[in-house]
Amino acid sequence: MFSIINPFDSTFLSEHQYITDTAAENVLKISKKSFYIWGFMPLTDRLNFIKKLVFALTKKQHLLAKQCSLEMGKPITQALAEVKKCQLLCEYYINNAEKFLENRQIETDGSESYVTYEPLGVVLGVMPWNFPYWQVFRFAIPTIIAGNTVVVKHASNVAGCAVLIEELFRDAGFANGIYTNLLIAGSQVKAVIENPVIAAVSLTGSEKAGASVASIAANQIKKAVLELGGSNGLIVCADADIDKTVEIAVNARFQNAGQSCIAAKRFFVHSSIFDSFIEKFKKAVSELKAGNPLDEATYIGPLARIDLAEDVEKQVNKSVAMGAKIVLGGNRRDAFYEPTILVNVTTDMPVFSEEVFGPAIPVLSFDTFEEAVTLSNATNFGLGVSVFTADVEGLKSRVNLFQEGAVFINAMVKSDPALPFGGVKRSGYGRELAENGIKEFVNVKAVYVG
Ligand code: NAP
Repeated sequence: MFSIINPFDSTFLSEHQYITDTAAENVLKISKKSFYIWGFMPLTDRLNFIKKLVFALTKKQHLLAKQCSLEMGKPITQALAEVKKCQLLCEYYINNAEKFLENRQIETDGSESYVTYEPLGVVLGVMPWNFPYWQVFRFAIPTIIAGNTVVVKHASNVAGCAVLIEELFRDAGFANGIYTNLLIAGSQVKAVIENPVIAAVSLTGSEKAGASVASIAANQIKKAVLELGGSNGLIVCADADIDKTVEIAVNARFQNAGQSCIAAKRFFVHSSIFDSFIEKFKKAVSELKAGNPLDEATYIGPLARIDLAEDVEKQVNKSVAMGAKIVLGGNRRDAFYEPTILVNVTTDMPVFSEEVFGPAIPVLSFDTFEEAVTLSNATNFGLGVSVFTADVEGLKSRVNLFQEGAVFINAMVKSDPALPFGGVKRSGYGRELAENGIKEFVNVKAVYVG
C-alpha cells in the first residue's frame, strides 16, 4: 500500500496497492489475446479508434490537467498544455501513420521485393511522472497504431493520472488489453520483462532504472528503447538577441519547475555580454510567480516530491561550498525550491557535472565558440543543445560538433511530434516520435519473390 501526497500542501490525495505478480501475469495474457485481434486489424480501423481517443481526451482535458497538478505539482496552465500536446501527437499520427507504415518497394534481382512493417506483440512501457500524460502518449500512441498492444508501468506518484489514461482508452471504445495500466512497483518490472508475452520494452526515466531495465531485456534478447536523463547546454553567442534569448532561456530552464529531461541545465554566455545577460535574466527570473499549481497565474509550482527538492538543495549547497556564488534564490521550503541562478561555477561542481532536476541554473562564460562547444559536450548526457546566434548559416555548418540528439538554433529544445526525439551517450538510445518512433517496435520484414 502506498499513498500519494499533494506536493503543494502535503495533504493526502489517495492510497494505492500494487497488484501481485500473478495478477500482472494475467494482465499480460489478456494483452496478448487482444494483440491477435488488434495487430491484424486494418490500419485505418486502428486509426479510427485513435480519433475516438482524441475526442475522449478533449472531453476530459480539464480533469486530466487538474489530476496532474494535484499529484505532481505542475502549474495548471502547463498541465493543460501538456494534455493538448497529446492531442496534437494523436493527430500527427492519424495524418501520417499510413504513409510511414506502407510497404516499401525495393529493387533487387528478384521479380519483386519489398519491406513490410509488422507489430511485435505486447510492449511494456515504464514511464516517469514529470510529464505524466505526454511521456505515455509519446510511447503508447505510435506503438499501438503500429499494431502492438501495450502495458504501462507508470511512476507510482502519478497513479491517479495513470488510471485516467486507461479510462480514456476505455471511453474511446478500445477493447480490454490494448492499453493496460499495470500498477506494479519498480521491483516487479523484472518479472514482467522476463515473461515470454513481453516482446520489447521502452523506459523513460533515470539512468539507474534504464540500466536495470535494459540489462534485463538484453538477457532475454528483447529490444529496449531508453529515454534517460539530460543536462542540455544553452549557448548564447555574442551576436545573439539578448532580450529574446532571455525570454526563451527562462522557459527553457524553469518550465515545469525545471523537471524536464530536455530543460536547459547549463548556460554558457559569451564573456562580452555576460554581465548584461545575467542582469536581464535575473530580473526575468525574479518575476516568475510561484504558488498554488491550481492557480492559473502560477508559473512555478513545488517539485513533485519533497525528496526531489532536497536533492536540488544538496546539489546547490555542495556547489556553493566548492566556490559557486548564488545570484538569486537558493532556498527551499518543503517541496518548493526557489528559482536559483549560480555563477563562478566549475565543471567539477554538482550543478554542472550532475543532472539538476529542478529550478537551479549554473551560468558560465566563454570566449571562443570552440570553448562553448567543449563545455557543452563536457557531460555524460547528450539529449540536446540550444544555441542563440545571429549567424544561423555559420552554426548549421558546425552542428556536427555537438554530441547530442538534437540541436535547436534560436529556440529552446522541445519535443515535436514531427521530429525524432532521443539521445546519445548516457541519455539513452532509440528514438520516439516522427517516423522513427513508430518504427521502433515493428518487425521490419523483407519479402522477396524469385
Ligand atoms: P525513475 O526513478 O527512473 O522512474 C521512472 C520510472 O521507472 C517509474 O515508473 C519508476 O517507478 C520506474 N523505476 C524506478 N526504478 C526502477 C527499476 N529499478 N526497475 C524498473 N523500473 C523502475 O525516474 P524519475 O525520477 O521518475 O524521472 C526523472 C528522470 O527521468 C530524469 O533523469 C529525467 O531526465 C528522466 N527523463 C527523461 C526523459 C527523456 O525523454 N529522455 C523524459 C522525462 C524524464 P516508481 O515510480 O514506482 O519508482
